[in-house]
Amino acid sequence: MAQAVQKSPAELAEDRLNTMRHSAAHVMAEAVLQLFPDAKLGIGPAIQDGFFYDFQLPRTLVPDDLAEIEERMGEIVKQNAPFGRRELSAQDAVALFEERQQPFKVELIRDLMGGGAERVRDEATGSPDAEGVKGDLVLLYNQNGFEDLCGGPHVARTKEIGAFKLLRIAGAYWRGDEKRPQLQRIYGTAWVSQQELDNHLQRLEDARKRDHRRLGTDLGLFLISDQVGAGLPIWGENGALLRQIVEDFWKAEHRAAGYQYVYSPHIGLIDLWQTSGHLSFYRENMSSPIDVDRQQFMLKPMNCPFHLQVFKRRVRSYRELPLRYNELGQVYRYEPSGTLHGLMRVRGFTQDDSHIFCRPDQLDAEVNGVLDLGLKLWRTLGFQEYLIELSVRDPNNHSKYMGEDERWVQAEAVLQRALEAHNLPFRRAEGEAVFYGPKIDIHLVDALGRKWQCSTIQVDFNLPERFDLTYIGEDGIQHRPFMVHRALLGSLERFFGVLIEHYAGAFPVWLAPVQATVLPIADRHNEYAENVHRQLRDAGIRAELDVRSERVNAKIRDAQLQKTPYMLVVGDREADAGAAAVRLRTGENLGALPVSDVIARIQEEAADRTGQVV
Ligand SMILES: [Zn+2]
Ligand SMILES: [Zn+2]
Repeated sequence: MAQAVQKSPAELAEDRLNTMRHSAAHVMAEAVLQLFPDAKLGIGPAIQDGFFYDFQLPRTLVPDDLAEIEERMGEIVKQNAPFGRRELSAQDAVALFEERQQPFKVELIRDLMGGGAERVRDEATGSPDAEGVKGDLVLLYNQNGFEDLCGGPHVARTKEIGAFKLLRIAGAYWRGDEKRPQLQRIYGTAWVSQQELDNHLQRLEDARKRDHRRLGTDLGLFLISDQVGAGLPIWGENGALLRQIVEDFWKAEHRAAGYQYVYSPHIGLIDLWQTSGHLSFYRENMSSPIDVDRQQFMLKPMNCPFHLQVFKRRVRSYRELPLRYNELGQVYRYEPSGTLHGLMRVRGFTQDDSHIFCRPDQLDAEVNGVLDLGLKLWRTLGFQEYLIELSVRDPNNHSKYMGEDERWVQAEAVLQRALEAHNLPFRRAEGEAVFYGPKIDIHLVDALGRKWQCSTIQVDFNLPERFDLTYIGEDGIQHRPFMVHRALLGSLERFFGVLIEHYAGAFPVWLAPVQATVLPIADRHNEYAENVHRQLRDAGIRAELDVRSERVNAKIRDAQLQKTPYMLVVGDREADAGAAAVRLRTGENLGALPVSDVIARIQEEAADRTGQVV
């Protein structure tokens, strides 16, 4: 396991929160056992922003149960009991938990004895720092009379748990396995102070209002159909339009940056994936083979092997490099059904993928170019703040990584230099590089301050080797090119999920699928409204016309719910003056303006492409 060299104050604060939250999970388990003495305990780790614990219970929990459990937790906390600890031999621990009729704990300890120690330890405690096992000994922690299998760490006494709240109940299979019993998972959150807890609850409420699944339906952006299958989103009219706008922008920027677009099929022969190593390293994310004419094909989980073929199409000279291939490539990866979530976690998605093949002396310029392009895309799409990690080798374990030392040193230095040259602060993560090369991971920070990992830039020493990629150098002999994989938006589906929540569906004018809606006050204004609508369309504005026989106030409300930036209301006066009464989605009234002025205004705003979050 990677050992952190030196923890920053932020990381230490995070550790403290995790310890507190995990301790809250112990207290919750104690409270649940008070209410349901027959409860069977699963696991209870700290997670981002909170904690959970899994239980097998005699009945299904209802929301009122949470209030009751929370109240009992409050009483336990007030007693301010210390967290005690003892060690037992694995045999004694099994006997103890058998006597207490806790079969899941018994299973975890048996696995510990069977050598799956590290995995079980992490599962049991959720804390990778924990020492859940010491030789043959198993660690147990207790507060009041309640004792749990756990590696710690915990707070010293229950009063240190801070302000907490239980949030929701969900189903979860034991150890994530659909063939094992389904347990009830209670989620909670805990913070150092009541104020921080209140802030967090407010953020959750804000996030609920922005939930891309709700907005996706309300705004006609996307749908997920039971008849099609889970994790396979379909882009509705407005969502597809939004996506096209972003794709057009993406493609134009890539062309300008010297990328060449390629297309590749959705399936490839099984041998291709054997050569690429995916069958060995990535099999569990891939579906079963498809038989065509007695040949086996696999749905592609990645685009890389196809882009390699384009490079290998003919002998390459050093003069041709760099070559930058890009593709919005649809890929398919297995995700357990329980983890699927709107557009954020799906089974079929489009990667904004690129592979760059270059000479060693070009790597600096290429990585800098990738960051330039990335920053342009992220900023234009409305993301100004990033959280960045540079994942490098574990300096004490060179054997874990493939490729020559010299290349690693060069590639890590290049990535670091590029981040520094762009004034992008980053965290250096020793030992977190993949075996085939170092990488930069970029999280976009959204309007609610949430971080979403979207972008990645990876140097790869593996695939050029496996596919025997070469170019003829100036010296007339063959050399291995550097290969860079990069995705700037990541999965388009996920990125749009983030984008929808970032803007709460109120997209800036340049992105809005519908930029303006024309609303005639009465049927007799329909003809003039059509005329205005046509003028807008002719000017390249994405406009709609609402000729339903509804009251105009109802039409305005609907357009507002659709988050349409401009509403053009037309009646007698407007028709006489060749004008439209303009309302913005913010509720602001601009009054009657000549139609040509409205057009100019919308065009100007769309051309500006600033991503103001409303
Ligand atoms: Zn614990
Ligand atoms: Zn790739």
